[in-house]
Amino acid sequence: MPLEEYREKREFAETPEPGPEADSGDGRRFVIQKHDATRLHYDFRLEDEGVLKSWAVTKEPPSSPGIKRLAIRTEDHPLGYVNFEGVIPEGQYGAGTVEIWDNGTYAPILEGEPDRNVAQAIDRGAIKFRLEGKRLNGGYVLYNFDKKGKEWFFFKMKD
Ligand code: MN
Repeated sequence: MPLEEYREKREFAETPEPGPEADSGDGRRFVIQKHDATRLHYDFRLEDEGVLKSWAVTKEPPSSPGIKRLAIRTEDHPLGYVNFEGVIPEGQYGAGTVEIWDNGTYAPILEGEPDRNVAQAIDRGAIKFRLEGKRLNGGYVLYNFDKKGKEWFFFKMKD
């Protein structure tokens, strides 16, 4: 069930985060949220099929090639999260401050694989896309290296 893991982790009476409502949007937005939780990280989210596919990037996302960041796949988030900023209270999942660090749109690069879509590319462990944001622009790669779908590299492609 979509967003089940998102729902199970949170108490919506206690957190200001968006509820787990499903959506049917087919836009191509992305957002990066700087999340000052137990450990500071950057949540990278791509809109696809009514949810936000999500990764927690362990350091500031790179704006130039040659820097690889570790990105941990996390649960899909509702589309409403694309605009979320605020403070998740102590005792709640992800307690800490969330602020939007970058946002904009993305275009998947699925060259040579016309039958594939974004969700399938992610399931198979690699996706390329172009970001058009305020901080990040150009071609990027998310690449799964642990074969379990959990640990990924996030880096910028050479133009
Ligand atoms: Mn987070």
